[in-house]
Amino acid sequence: MTAIPVPPLADLESARLFHRVLLLHVARLKCRGDPVGFDQFLLGQALGLHIPAKERELGCAECGRPYPCRMILLIALLTRLPVSWAPMSLARALSATALWPSGETDRDIIEDERLEYGDRLQVDPWYRAERNPRTGRWLVCTYERGSIQATQHIDDDNDLCGFLIEQTLRLTCPYSWKTDTKWNAQLDIGAARALQWWSAHRSLAYLESHRSDGAWQPRSS
Ligand SMILES: [Zn+2]
Repeated sequence: MTAIPVPPLADLESARLFHRVLLLHVARLKCRGDPVGFDQFLLGQALGLHIPAKERELGCAECGRPYPCRMILLIALLTRLPVSWAPMSLARALSATALWPSGETDRDIIEDERLEYGDRLQVDPWYRAERNPRTGRWLVCTYERGSIQATQHIDDDNDLCGFLIEQTLRLTCPYSWKTDTKWNAQLDIGAARALQWWSAHRSLAYLESHRSDGAWQPRSS
């Protein structure tokens, strides 16, 4: 089995592989037998722009950030692309892409058995994770306004990676917004046009041929 490269990516070839496998992964996030989804298709369009490039440094051709850029890493994490993360490699990637809410990433502390990240000004939480070298368990402390607000024990490195990935989901807009219906009539015009376009486009052979693909079991009716 070929392994998915783990960031930091060594070279352009590894970055291209990471990007390609992510696109394949996103395309498989559907039930076999279902058509390709409109949202899924659009996500592929957006991700497809964020290809790696190398001039002097390895970076994203779209946004210019080091690779994987924030867009690519965020989707890789939220879709649980099966990268063999360890706390150090994941922490470095989160810090490098500013997916950690630290503002100034040079204030993040990333060591074998200690991670610190978050808002040093303490308007938002500050996190400190420490690994017990004897048990391998982690203790995560959350500080707000200078004092501990919460502590959490995490069993092992793998679960800590899961915890860190879960934390990247912090922008829930627009679903966390107060319902605002005043745009609906105007947006419905665009939605109708989108549906008209997508209804025709999704039946093209290159998409229809993916109907039988998918990593998820068909729903039992
Ligand atoms: Zn990018």
